[in-house]
Amino acid sequence: MTDLYAVAGNPIGHSKSPLIHSTFARQTQQDLLYKALLMPLGEFAAKAEKFFQHGGSGLNVTVPFKEDAFRFATTHTPRALRAQAVNTLKKMPDGSILADNTDGVGLVRDLTLNHQVPLAGKRILLLGAGGAVRGVLQPLLEQQPAELVIANRTVSKAEQLARDFADLGCVTASSFADVPGAFDLIINGTSASLGGELPPLPLTVFKDGTVTYDMMYGAGRTVFNQWAHEQGVTITLDGLGMLVEQAAEAFYCWRGVRPDTATVIQRLRQERRTY
Ligand code: NDP
Repeated sequence: MTDLYAVAGNPIGHSKSPLIHSTFARQTQQDLLYKALLMPLGEFAAKAEKFFQHGGSGLNVTVPFKEDAFRFATTHTPRALRAQAVNTLKKMPDGSILADNTDGVGLVRDLTLNHQVPLAGKRILLLGAGGAVRGVLQPLLEQQPAELVIANRTVSKAEQLARDFADLGCVTASSFADVPGAFDLIINGTSASLGGELPPLPLTVFKDGTVTYDMMYGAGRTVFNQWAHEQGVTITLDGLGMLVEQAAEAFYCWRGVRPDTATVIQRLRQERRTY
């Protein structure tokens, strides 16, 4: 029987998840159908309940429902509990709903496997303190960086995150203006690029060999990566690989098979050139 999966969000029309998961399914010969669900604001729990009652096997969840999905689930993986926000729901054989957050694994795989960016012993600057940053903190800290600084426009949110994750490594908080010293890796997990804006960082964050990673992706360089490039950064990466890797981890959670991500990333990059 064909199993039903979907991605739920609002808006959802732009989502690449149906294309990614359908490609994974063909590649691994899994019999499944994957749809996009536009969910009205305030109705996540009711609509998700209906989806699973009508035979749905799993949901991916995107903006703005990741915290609703966390509350909706019956059980949570340890990394989902840490993040308090989830992008993957799975119906278990006993009817309960398991929640996972695969964003962080997706980011770490993209950095370390696809781009060979080392994380252990490095100084990392993580910009933002929203759902995406909360989701990637545990997997990043598990790579044992020397130090991870979280900088956010609303500094109190960065401070709260630093407290919440302090047991996992050396993690501190800062404003954008007061970010201390230069970094090996700067990850932009703010949504500033969406509005064509830049987090106002001092140029002292850069040094020879600094790599930048913008979780956002789109046609060409993001605003953040363009700015970094203009400051002399030679390796500027975007979040397309993270998108595909987090999807692959969700696919593995649902189906127990790992799809090949390289061909899908390559295909999306080729399509993007024609946007
Ligand atoms: P949230 O809305 O939860 O958080 C937004 C964050 O951006 C907050 O820290 C906010 O600061 C900050 N921010 C917003 N506007 C500005 C600005 N103009 N200047 C400086 N900081 C700003 O969003 P998410 O955490 O869910 O998503 C963040 C980004 O990550 C998005 O671009 C999203 O597309 C991307 N993402 C990519 C994924 C991928 O697979 N590639 C997966 C998940 C997310 P404040 O707290 O002060 O409001």
